[in-house]
Amino acid sequence: MEWNIAAEAISLVMMGIIWVYARKGSHLPTLKNRIFQWCLLVTFSAMLTNILSTILIHQYRRVPMGLTWTVTTVYYILTPLMGLAYFLYAVSVIYTESLQVKKIMAVGMIPGVLYAVMVLANPFNKLLFDINSREGYTRGSLVSVTYLIFYAYCLASIVLTLANHKKIDRNIYHILAAFPILAVLVIIVQEMYPEVILSGSAATCALLIIYLHLQNKQISLDYLTGVPNRQELLNMLKIMIKKAPSRKFVLIVVSLRDFRQVNNTCGQQKGDEFLKEVCRFLCGIGPQGNVYRFSGDEFALLYPQPDEGRIRRCVDEIQNRMTQPWQIGDYCFRMSAAMGAINHNGEEETLEKTINAIEYAVSQAKTGKCGSFCYCDKDMLDKLERRSQVIHILKEQLEKQSFEMYYQPIYGVKKGYFAHAESLMRIPHSPIGPIYPDEFIPIAEETGLIVDITYVVLDKVCRFINRLTDQNIPIESVHVNFSAMQFSQQDLEERVLEIIRRNHTPMSAVKIEFTESTLAESTKAVTEFALHMLQHGIKMGLDDFGTGYSNIATVINIPFGTVKLDKSLVWVSMDNEKSALAVKNLSHTFQQLGMKVVAEGVETEEQRKRVEEFGVDQIQGYYYAKPMTADAMVEFMRSNGPEVRPAGNKAECRGTFA
Ligand code: C2E
Ligand code: CA
Ligand code: CA
Repeated sequence: MEWNIAAEAISLVMMGIIWVYARKGSHLPTLKNRIFQWCLLVTFSAMLTNILSTILIHQYRRVPMGLTWTVTTVYYILTPLMGLAYFLYAVSVIYTESLQVKKIMAVGMIPGVLYAVMVLANPFNKLLFDINSREGYTRGSLVSVTYLIFYAYCLASIVLTLANHKKIDRNIYHILAAFPILAVLVIIVQEMYPEVILSGSAATCALLIIYLHLQNKQISLDYLTGVPNRQELLNMLKIMIKKAPSRKFVLIVVSLRDFRQVNNTCGQQKGDEFLKEVCRFLCGIGPQGNVYRFSGDEFALLYPQPDEGRIRRCVDEIQNRMTQPWQIGDYCFRMSAAMGAINHNGEEETLEKTINAIEYAVSQAKTGKCGSFCYCDKDMLDKLERRSQVIHILKEQLEKQSFEMYYQPIYGVKKGYFAHAESLMRIPHSPIGPIYPDEFIPIAEETGLIVDITYVVLDKVCRFINRLTDQNIPIESVHVNFSAMQFSQQDLEERVLEIIRRNHTPMSAVKIEFTESTLAESTKAVTEFALHMLQHGIKMGLDDFGTGYSNIATVINIPFGTVKLDKSLVWVSMDNEKSALAVKNLSHTFQQLGMKVVAEGVETEEQRKRVEEFGVDQIQGYYYAKPMTADAMVEFMRSNGPEVRPAGNKAECRGTFA
């Protein structure tokens, strides 16, 4: 039969193009990527030898017999091996995460190896084909084994894909399922036109589909800057850590400060150009091929073989560059950067820990506590470990609502008894011992857990007020602390009202305290919230006055029931007459505006006397009572609350709890 190799020749060219594209850029050294390259090599070689062998067989009288034999033998080996390569590719995609992958592959290769041995034995037994000077090329009695092996591998790929359809991504499933179907279609067409060789066209189509959907490098590149994206970095780190957990590498993340400002003032397009410019600069000085876009305004530099001197120079260059202005079109501006770095040496053995460590280092650099460059050392890793333990405990205690509320009584100076209290959250018991608010509140705020914690706190406080009421122990109000984060919630007002109503607690018995810095941070939201809550009878209190930078006009605009002077103001006014005068006048101003003034942090008799001289209305401090459990507070209020007039003396009050 005369064979038509036109389709095969065109497919060979297309195959070459796919191969060139698929080799562009750096690839992660994953099993899947390596096998894909192998698929391309085997297919390209099979097609090439198919064409050459067809030509040589056609011209068998004019070319040396040994050459025709060699090329045809290679073709016979490679054709079913294409099936094997696709099968191995399917295995590597389906079993990416499994430790079994290598075992499955080894078993899958057995028929291919046996077949290769059969081809190598063919010159002696001619079971597959024969080429001689009399008849040219003739098929052997077992030639169908070649096709059977190829189709068996295709069938195995289909079975494997169908059997695992639940655990693989839908897109991948469709692609893997499509490509054996394509093979079947080609067999049908091949049967209809036996003289046209179509096996190469089928293989090219299959690999083109895989290339476009699963292996395309563009998927892993950042569209704007052209460098690999965050996902690619995560994949790379995962491979590096998995292969050698104790392997040393350095990761640096450069975070642009206030990048949003560039977008806001110069427009998004200029912002994009600026990012490209920064990326070009980093690619120029950073590790070649290992600069990644980590997030919108963050880039990562990965040094797989750390060289301390080179890294130091790179960091210096970035820091120097950030002191110079950037020129983007007509715009010229300066931009500072915060940099975090980790030196991986097996301490943070998982990808998650590595990413947490680098993000923590960047966040520390952003606070400026360690300058603009923060290196995550052992000490910081320990802190990070503790932090993740605290997060875990907070989540757990929030879910079980098992954290405790303590209460600190607030003394009414003119009334002479304790009519109010502040609720303070406590974690006295946890697997890592007691955790104090100074530690867990900032973490709860950073992680956003504080939002739900506050609702649980409010609920517990309502139940505590009800408990006092049920026992006929009057209390005018219990203060609840609200963090700034709370004001980013759309349904804050409804949630607060719903909790108090559900508990049937009088609205006037709840006072919401928020700090001066919260007010400064979200003035509009806080002002609106405060005015609405006041309409429902819920009281408002300003906390920590004197620590933030709130605009006095804003403070005046919100009808706070109380303003709490921060402990630092109380303490500084003890030995500084100017401060004392300022605090005294401030107190009077607030009182003239109709607010009650509370002095916080009063620990000694002298401090008590001093704040009373200032004319404050209420006093909160260790002098009277430390925060205590709900049970202790019930007893405290029973003997020192509004019903008992005048209040017991200091000794009585302090003796109520340990
Ligand atoms: P804060 O709202 O200013 O609470 C007053 C803090 O001052 C409490 O610390 C209290 O124990 C302490 N304190 C009271 N009197 C004295 C004193 O005479 N001397 C000294 N040195 N300290 C005194 P605590 O309970 O450790 O709470 C610290 C901060 O944690 C609170 O400051 C508040 O900002 C936050 N926090 C505590 N519980 C909660 C809560 O349930 N929700 C929210 N959002 N924050 C809370
Ligand atoms: Ca407070
Ligand atoms: Ca306070």
